[in-house]
Amino acid sequence: TKWVYSFGGAANEGGAGMRDLLGGKGANLAEMAAIGLPVPPGFTITTEVCTRFYENGRAYPEDLRAQVEAALAGVEAALGLRFGDPAAPLLVSVRSGARVSMPGMMDTVLNLGLNDETVAGLAAASGDARFAWDSYRRFIQMYGSVVLGVSHHRFEDLIEETKRATGVQDDTKLTDQDWQEVVTGYKEIVLRETGAPFPTDPHAQLWGAIGAVFGSWMNPRAHTYRRLHDIPADWGTAVNVQAMVFGNMGADCATGVCFTRDPSTGENVFYGEYLINAQGEDVVAGIRTPQPMSQARAHDGELSMERALPEAYRELLAVRDILERHYRDMQDIEFTVQNNRLYMLQTRTGKRTAAAALRIAIAMAEEGLITHEEAIRRVPPSSLDQLLHPTLDPDAPRTMLSRGLPASPGAAAGAIVFSAEDVEIRAARGEDVILVRIETSPEDVHGMHAARGVLTTRGGMTSHAAVVARGMGRVCVAGAGGIHVDYRARTLSVGATVLHEGDWITLDGATGEVFAGRVATIEPTLSGDFSTLMGWADSVRRMKVRANAETPDDARTARHFGAEGIGLCRTEHMFFAPDRIGFMRQMIMAGDAAARIRAIDALLPFQREDFKALFRIMAGLPVTIRLLDPPLHEFLPHGEAELAELAAALGESPEAVAARRAALSEANPMLGHRGCRLGLTYPELYAMQARAIIEAAIAVSAESGQPVVPEIMIPLVGMDSELRRTRATVEQAAAEALEAAGVSLDFSIGTMIELPRAALTADRIAQDADFFSFGTNDLTQTTFGLSRDDSGTFMPFYLEHDLIPRDPFISIDQEGVGQLVAMGAERGRRTRPGLKLGVCGEHGGDPASIGFFESVGLDYVSCSPFRVPIARLAAAQAAL
Ligand code: ADP
Ligand code: MG
Ligand code: MG
Repeated sequence: TKWVYSFGGAANEGGAGMRDLLGGKGANLAEMAAIGLPVPPGFTITTEVCTRFYENGRAYPEDLRAQVEAALAGVEAALGLRFGDPAAPLLVSVRSGARVSMPGMMDTVLNLGLNDETVAGLAAASGDARFAWDSYRRFIQMYGSVVLGVSHHRFEDLIEETKRATGVQDDTKLTDQDWQEVVTGYKEIVLRETGAPFPTDPHAQLWGAIGAVFGSWMNPRAHTYRRLHDIPADWGTAVNVQAMVFGNMGADCATGVCFTRDPSTGENVFYGEYLINAQGEDVVAGIRTPQPMSQARAHDGELSMERALPEAYRELLAVRDILERHYRDMQDIEFTVQNNRLYMLQTRTGKRTAAAALRIAIAMAEEGLITHEEAIRRVPPSSLDQLLHPTLDPDAPRTMLSRGLPASPGAAAGAIVFSAEDVEIRAARGEDVILVRIETSPEDVHGMHAARGVLTTRGGMTSHAAVVARGMGRVCVAGAGGIHVDYRARTLSVGATVLHEGDWITLDGATGEVFAGRVATIEPTLSGDFSTLMGWADSVRRMKVRANAETPDDARTARHFGAEGIGLCRTEHMFFAPDRIGFMRQMIMAGDAAARIRAIDALLPFQREDFKALFRIMAGLPVTIRLLDPPLHEFLPHGEAELAELAAALGESPEAVAARRAALSEANPMLGHRGCRLGLTYPELYAMQARAIIEAAIAVSAESGQPVVPEIMIPLVGMDSELRRTRATVEQAAAEALEAAGVSLDFSIGTMIELPRAALTADRIAQDADFFSFGTNDLTQTTFGLSRDDSGTFMPFYLEHDLIPRDPFISIDQEGVGQLVAMGAERGRRTRPGLKLGVCGEHGGDPASIGFFESVGLDYVSCSPFRVPIARLAAAQAAL
């Protein structure tokens, strides 16, 4: 088997299409070399080796060593240098690279191949001893921390000490002598911390680093990240070994990170940061302040790359165009300039905010780079959430504390918390918190996830905090250098203002501003790019999108977001209002039929008005109304006072009412006296609701001149006999209402499919149903035998131990519950071709589930109003 693929030299064996095998980084390095961009030569050890490594008890395939040696010889030949040559050594970087970029994987090791002999050779060959020793100490530091596991603080402390002793402020001012002493000190640290001397043999160094990359695939950080992002463990990572180029060789050298367009706004401008005389992650590490790429973006006191290194900058601009045209998407690129020559070290599809994703997709479609369909596919539906979320109210009073970089947009307010662990604890209690760090690292990712927003005092737009926050849609202000964070005292201060842990701050991720306290926010507007993309999506999708809504407010929001009807109006929510709950209780607790009918008659006008309001807002769009579903005890009086009040209203003794309340309590209410079982035992109730619906429809049809077509839905049907009998009750009430009004009106009667038995017997149930709506929340609950309200105690364990890939209440379990949906659809349509099919569980707003519903051929999905745009886009993607 071929385990190793060369790139950039005489042989270029990979390409962008080989990402599964070579990882993203390796595949794109080969691709860039193939299209003629300057890529230092190297080779990629495939992801298959990683998989084998773990299958075989952490052992490499036998012939791997020989293939690595051959590839290394190829790099040596391409450059005329030799690995380990004391006169002029080849140095390499060792870099991890999975299919998708993955924080948590091993950090890159640079300058590998240095030891006491080769460092002299590097000094001689470059004529720059300071550079050689600086590279050497960087190597020991990186290798020591990422491969040997020595805490990087040990090394950093020594540099700080050296700077103090020599009286210099900046690393770049340290001399070759200083660095030599640092190297000696570093080796002592390694010996002391690991019990073994720092490895001097370059080949041993190389295999040590390769082993560390593969080892990092199974470390806890990588594991957590994979779980959060649904990345299978058997994908494996590749290892890239690449000849070094040096950005730290003097003033005509630099290193940088940039985006072909602005990753925050999507604007078509070249965007990025670089540092002169620097190496590797210096730009993102925040040790020195990175400088802007273009002169147009440079402020006073900043030195743009356009000015400092004009030739390399021009070349980079050309590369930017080539890459965008080649990949037809915004790229995130890493480069190094060595003696005015540009080298490309990485390109990948750039992470972006939701607003930027939209802007770029639309701009690229308009530029003719991609089709409308590609543009639709380019925007992750769930990212729209970010655009639907609030921004700061421009008129709200505020006290500005400081300003950092607008790293990830949106507004967030919360209590200050200084560690990821504390964020998780407080967030689990339901508190809104802001994670405040000097800078973040992959260990903080779980805390960033749980926080409302992230504030750092160091680092640029491409810092860890910024990139990760943008990726997960968290608000982020990065590099707010005016803020001083003291972890020990747990304070954040700006000049004389001191805030403590737990105090509130507000972040505006769109401007980079940080405010004391809580600033009011406003709802987003949905114009421009948003409506353009939604228009494109609507023109290709097949499934309709409705909303689950019962209040006029929700119904208006739903329409505002483009809902094409209401898929689920839960009437029980209408009975909790203070002016109705009393009648509701009287109805439930009535001692005789007459008292019950009195209470029901009192409820009728309320219900009618509720439905009229909904029909008016929905203006002729379909509205599915579910008759009362939950167990009655949910409505019962709680305390003594409520009980006494009810007894008085009914003219009975509190004891009698208390006894009836006790009789209504159930051991397992979710499987108890609820749904159509209520409608069967209390037919007056469903009759009243049906009458209210029909009367409201008659009234609104008349006043608007636009026919209202209500859809009446019977819940929790498991047998066709249940539906037949409830249907008769509803039909009779409807007929009476129509006769009394002397008009005719179209309406339909259907049922929820939310019990396994209903799905299994859907062909029989369809005889009496004009439509089905899959209630996937209850269907998941009853298929798994898993209580939705109680799964929180063990579901996290299931997820963590890969017992289940995703929470089945969030994303539909296609394998199990999905089969029942497919079966219900198929059997229902066997009886009644053209039977209208929809879904109204939480899953109706989940993009992965929507893809599944498209494949089953449902007619519509219904979800909460805020998820309507997400569902519209997901349905479009599913249809493509
Ligand atoms: P990450 O996946 O964290 O971005 P990389 O493997 O891209 O890590 O390495 C980080 C940085 O290290 C690169 O951006 C680049 O600046 C530097 N680097 C990696 N390989 C080389 C090399 N062969 N020569 C010079 N610098 C390198
Ligand atoms: Mg890294
Ligand atoms: Mg990189």
